[in-house]
Amino acid sequence: MFISSILSLCAILFFILPTRSQLLAHCKMSSLRILDRNDIILREVLSSKDATSRYCRIDEISPWLIKATVISEDKRFHLHKGIDPLAMLRSLIQNVSTGRIVSGGSTISQQLARNLLNSPSRNLIYKIIEAFVAVNLESKLSKKEILELYFNYAPYGNQTYGVEAAAHLYLRKPACDLSLAEAAFLAGIPQAPSFYNPYRYPERTRKRQHDILGSLLGYDIIDSTEYRDALEQPIKLVAKDRNFLAPHFCEYVISYLDKRGYHNISTVKTTLDNHLQKEIEQILKNNIDRLADANVTNAAVIVLENHTMDVLVYVGSVDFFDPCIDGEVDGVRSLRQPGSALKPFTYALALENNCTAATLIPDMPSFENTYGGDYMPRNYDEKYHGMVRLRNALACSYNIPAVRVCGDYGPEMLLELCHGLGFESLDKSAIHYGIGLTLGNGEVTLLELTRAYSVFGHCGRYLQERFLLNTDTFDIKTPRQARKLLEPETAYIIMDILSDNNARSPAFGLYSSLNLPFFCAVKTGTSKDFKDNWCVGFTDKYLIGIWVGNFDGSPMHHVSGITGAGPIFRDIMLFLHRNVPSVRYPKPTKLVSAIICAESGELSSDLCDNTIAEIFTEGTEPTEVCHYHTSATPLSVFPYDNKTAYPDGGASNLIKISFPDDGDIFKIDPVLRNEFQVITFQILTTCHLTDVSWFVNDSIIGTVTQPYKITWQLSPGKYSISAHGLTTDHETIVSAPVSILVLE
Ligand SMILES: [Zn+2]
Repeated sequence: MFISSILSLCAILFFILPTRSQLLAHCKMSSLRILDRNDIILREVLSSKDATSRYCRIDEISPWLIKATVISEDKRFHLHKGIDPLAMLRSLIQNVSTGRIVSGGSTISQQLARNLLNSPSRNLIYKIIEAFVAVNLESKLSKKEILELYFNYAPYGNQTYGVEAAAHLYLRKPACDLSLAEAAFLAGIPQAPSFYNPYRYPERTRKRQHDILGSLLGYDIIDSTEYRDALEQPIKLVAKDRNFLAPHFCEYVISYLDKRGYHNISTVKTTLDNHLQKEIEQILKNNIDRLADANVTNAAVIVLENHTMDVLVYVGSVDFFDPCIDGEVDGVRSLRQPGSALKPFTYALALENNCTAATLIPDMPSFENTYGGDYMPRNYDEKYHGMVRLRNALACSYNIPAVRVCGDYGPEMLLELCHGLGFESLDKSAIHYGIGLTLGNGEVTLLELTRAYSVFGHCGRYLQERFLLNTDTFDIKTPRQARKLLEPETAYIIMDILSDNNARSPAFGLYSSLNLPFFCAVKTGTSKDFKDNWCVGFTDKYLIGIWVGNFDGSPMHHVSGITGAGPIFRDIMLFLHRNVPSVRYPKPTKLVSAIICAESGELSSDLCDNTIAEIFTEGTEPTEVCHYHTSATPLSVFPYDNKTAYPDGGASNLIKISFPDDGDIFKIDPVLRNEFQVITFQILTTCHLTDVSWFVNDSIIGTVTQPYKITWQLSPGKYSISAHGLTTDHETIVSAPVSILVLE
C-alpha cells in the first residue's frame, strides 16, 4: 500500500515536473525592501522562496565556491546520476550510530529537488520523492546546469536564497569575487542554514569553514600555502545591525505579507520610525542590564502614535541574535498572562453599569463563588483596605474589589468587551476563565494589550493599529473602522484615574516610577510568581506597552510592574516628550464634577474631614450628603503627634503637612530636566480655609487656595517647611514644621 502510493505519486510528479526549458527559464527576480516611515531600508529580503533576487550564471560564480560546495555537499557529484548510494549508506550508518539524524546524505541534485519542491527535509516520503525528482533533473539537465540552479535556489540563512544574494548580504560583494576563505565560509551554510547562521553562531560557521578548507586540502584541490592563507584571512561579515534593523518588526511584516499571499511586492513602506526604534532599543538594553541581578533577561516594547495608531517602535526582545535569551522570540506577539493590566476594562464596565468613580467597593476578606469553585483573591500587599472608592481600587490595583466588580457583572461581559477590543487570544469561554479573567488568568499578547488601551484615549472608540503605509503593488489605504465600545465619559474617567498619582500613592507611593512630570495615564501588571510584568500607558501623543520577563518562563526575583517595566516606561516617556510635553485631553461634554467626601463618596458637608473633587457622567453624580460625618459625630481631628510638635507650642492640630514627611530626604536626579525636579507640598485640614501660605525656612514662597498645594523646586540644602492657614473667621492656624534634606 505504502509503496504503491509512493509509486503513483512519482508517476503524477513525472507529468507535472517542469521541462528542461521551464527549469532554465528562471522567472523574473525580485527582492522585497522594507522601509521605515522616512524611507530608511530596514531590511532587504533578497529573495522569495520562488526565486533568487539576483540570478547569476555559473560562470559568474567564483570557482572557489563551486569547488568548496562540491567538496562539502557532494564529493561524487560528477560521477553519480542524481543519487549517491554510497553517501546514503554512510549517512544511514552515521545516523544509526549516533541515534539521531546528523547527515542527510543528499546529493546536490537531491538538494536542488528539495529547494524546487520546497519540501521539509527530514521526512522519508519527501526523501523518496526528492530522489525521484533528482534523477529526473539529471536526465534533463547537464551537471553544469544543475549546479547553476543549485546556487540560485540554495538557502543561505536569514531568509536569503541564492549565492549572489548571500554574498551581498554577508560580505557586500558579488559571488564572482569570493576568495577561497569566503567561498568556504558560504559553502558551509546551505546544509543547515539555521544551525550555521553566521550571526547567531559565528563559531559554528567558522569551524565549518575550517573543515571545508581541510577537505579541499585533503583532496589536493588546494595546496598547503593556499590552505594556510585562507585560514588566516578574516571574514569581514557585514554587521548584523546594518542588515537587520527592527528585526522582529520586519519578520512580522514578512509573515503578514506571506499569509495574505502578497508575493509580488518589491517595496513596502511601513509606519516604523527607525530613529526612535534605535533610541528605545538602547533604553531597553540599559534597563535590562540594571535588572540582571533580579534574573530578568528580556523585555519587549511597542510604541504607537496615539492619534493614528501607527506602530512607531517594535522591539520584540533585547537582542534578536542572542540565542541564550531566545532572542528571536517576538515578545510583542508572545502569549503571556497580563496580571492586573486588564483591570481598567473591568472598571470601565462598572462605570457603564451604574457605578461611578466614587462608588464604594468593599476590600475585605471574601469567598467569591466562581464557576471554577471558591476563589479567595489576595491583594498584592497582603492587606485589606476596607471600603474603597472605585478610583482608589483601580489606581491602587487592589485585587478583591476588581474580583467583586467582575463577579457583579459576570466574566461574560468582560470577555465580550475584551473581544471587541481585539483580544483574539482570549479564545476560551467565560466559564473557562471565570472571574480570574480580571486578574489576568487568560493569556494575551503585548500588542493586543497595548492597542486595547487606545479605547481610553480615543473617546471610547477602539481603533486597530497600522503598520503598513503603502506598497508598490496593492493599496492598503483602506480606512479602518473605529468601533465605539465605551461612552466617552467612561473612557475619560478611567483615563483620569490612571493618571491620578495621588489616588495610586497609597499602594505605590507618591514618587513611584509612574509619576511623570506631565499628563500620562498608566497601569502596571505582574503575573503569578513574578513571571511577567507589564506597563501600559499613554499620553495625548504616544501609546506604549512594555513587557519584562524571561522567554523560558523562569520567574524574576520579586520584580513587579512598578520596579521592572515601570522605570523603562518612565525612561521612554521622558525621552519621547523631551521636547514637547503632553497635554490633557479635553473633557467630554457630559462630564460634570462634584465635591465629595473622600470616605463616603457622597456629597461633602461642612463636617467632612477630607473632601475631593470627583468627576461623573452627567446624571450619575451623588445626590445624598455624606452620612459618615453628621452633626451627631464630633469633629474629628488629626492625632496630635508629640514628636513633631512646634517647640513653642504655637502649632495647631487643625492643619498638618501631609507631604513631605518630617525627615524626608530627596535627591536631585542628574538626568531629569530642571523644571521636573519639583515636589508638591500638601496639607490636611479640618477647617475651612480661605487660603494657605507656605513658608520655607521662614520665607513665604506663595499663598494658595483650595486644594492648598504648591510646587517647590528642589535645590540642595536643609529646609524647614510650614503651612499657615487663614480660616474663614480670619484666624491664622499654623502647622507643625517639617524638616527635609535635599541632596545633590
Ligand atoms: Zn464625609
